[in-house]
Amino acid sequence: MADTSGIAIHPAVDHGIRPAKPDFAGGELRCLCHADPVRVALRGQTAHNHVCGCTKCWKPEGAIFSQVAVISRDLVEVLAGAEKLEVVNRDAPIQRHRCKACGAHLFGRIENSEHPFYGLDFVHTELSDQDGWAAPEFAAFVSSVIESGVDPERMPGIRARLRELGLEPYDALSPPLMDAIATHIARRSGALPA
Ligand SMILES: [Zn+2]
Ligand SMILES: [Zn+2]
Repeated sequence: MADTSGIAIHPAVDHGIRPAKPDFAGGELRCLCHADPVRVALRGQTAHNHVCGCTKCWKPEGAIFSQVAVISRDLVEVLAGAEKLEVVNRDAPIQRHRCKACGAHLFGRIENSEHPFYGLDFVHTELSDQDGWAAPEFAAFVSSVIESGVDPERMPGIRARLRELGLEPYDALSPPLMDAIATHIARRSGALPA
């Protein structure tokens, strides 16, 4: 059994995962700027919250993983600071809108209507003061943390720690989400009825 002491995954899970509140109706995200923060309303609960090891998702200082969830784009509204937002990479499938001043990502949006996750925005609910957001359920793209400089020899300990937290480690997305993507592709190609 790998030693899991001292392994920091993400501040939102390292000290135990807080459960979602039933009937939670959403809240507000704020960037990390002390003055004039960007404020974004999420008018509902998020879904599929997870920690992600990819190199594209925004991570707080010192975290190996990001924490990221989805919400219908219709429920996302910039309340203040729109002029501080910029898209990290216009060519990426997910257009991540970050604060130019502090670097925090407020939401990632898919503009390609053919994309399997079109209609969903990607958000980091740790940027909210409210308690009750959907709890992280699994760990995605775990092997990718090596691409951001994690020593490969640490991987057994990292995977063991994720399991200890109840976050099953996957090297892609979770099986239900991979199935959803494949179903979308099969319906488009005609392999499955539309
Ligand atoms: Zn900011
Ligand atoms: Zn990611």
